[in-house]
Amino acid sequence: MLCSPLTGAYSPPKRMAKQIAEMLIDSVTMELPDTKTIRLKWPEGYNPDFKTGQFITVYWPDTPAYKRAYSLSSCALDRGFYEVTVKRDGKMGTRIVDWAKAGDKLWVIPPTGRFLPVFDPPGKHLVCIAGGSGVTPFRGFVREATRRQLDTRITILYSVRTTNDIIFHDEFKQLEQENEHFDFYVTCTRLHTDDPWTGRRGRITADWVKEHIHDPANTVFYACGTNELVEATEHLVLDELKLPKEQMKTEKWG
Ligand SMILES: Cc1cc2nc3c(=O)[nH]c(=O)nc-3n(C[C@H](O)[C@H](O)[C@H](O)COP(=O)(O)OP(=O)(O)OC[C@H]3O[C@@H](n4cnc5c(N)ncnc54)[C@H](O)[C@@H]3O)c2cc1C
Repeated sequence: MLCSPLTGAYSPPKRMAKQIAEMLIDSVTMELPDTKTIRLKWPEGYNPDFKTGQFITVYWPDTPAYKRAYSLSSCALDRGFYEVTVKRDGKMGTRIVDWAKAGDKLWVIPPTGRFLPVFDPPGKHLVCIAGGSGVTPFRGFVREATRRQLDTRITILYSVRTTNDIIFHDEFKQLEQENEHFDFYVTCTRLHTDDPWTGRRGRITADWVKEHIHDPANTVFYACGTNELVEATEHLVLDELKLPKEQMKTEKWG
């Protein structure tokens, strides 16, 4: 069903793309024991104009005042559905991860936001810094760049507690095979010392980020996740690397 965001009244189809819509959960995928992707099917006549990297806001029909934002983990080339990937957290996160199932319905406020990949002009290097579930919008970035065969270089620097916390591990590894311009690096902050992981350990540091920058003037930095991670990245880019704020895009989740 499609309703006006302001009045809740039914509106004719011509403005559907801007409308809040009730959507069926088409399928659910457990990415990790505490993280679930839900696919929301667009209702008939819904054909929005939106961009990869934007977020939707959702609420359950029985609790319309309780709304939460989720970055699209699908991309703008995916038509007919939205995907969001949610971590079990407080009220909404727990309800989605533990209870949401195919056939349930959620209300969806259309995509918005400016956390957008710079694909134009071509040839940019996007350095995407994420912690935990903050990696979700970057799946959309890489998916779109890979499908469009863009020469945009994308590097994800991803901090997780342990190897069991890497969301989309297999998918990113597959995308690395398909897209020579994409690299996926993980650092684990809380691994046991005798864990066999041979990758990097410890928090994201300025030195680690600097290792992946080859042409600072042509690099755009993205940081997504907790305020702490985003602010530390801002400090690095703006104060340490002394790059202009036009080269830094952030999405703070609180
Ligand atoms: C633009 C944007 C995009 C986002 N995208 C994503 C995404 O892709 N995936 C994702 O998982 N999240 C995303 N978020 C975060 C998301 O919007 C919610 O903030 C998150 O799911 C938590 O909401 P909640 O209702 O589950 O938690 P809330 O109930 O609001 O609780 C918030 C926090 O407080 C804690 N808390 C609650 N009550 C108590 C209490 N009584 N005592 C102690 N602690 C308490 C909870 O454990 C939780 O950590 C995004 C946020 C923004 C702004």
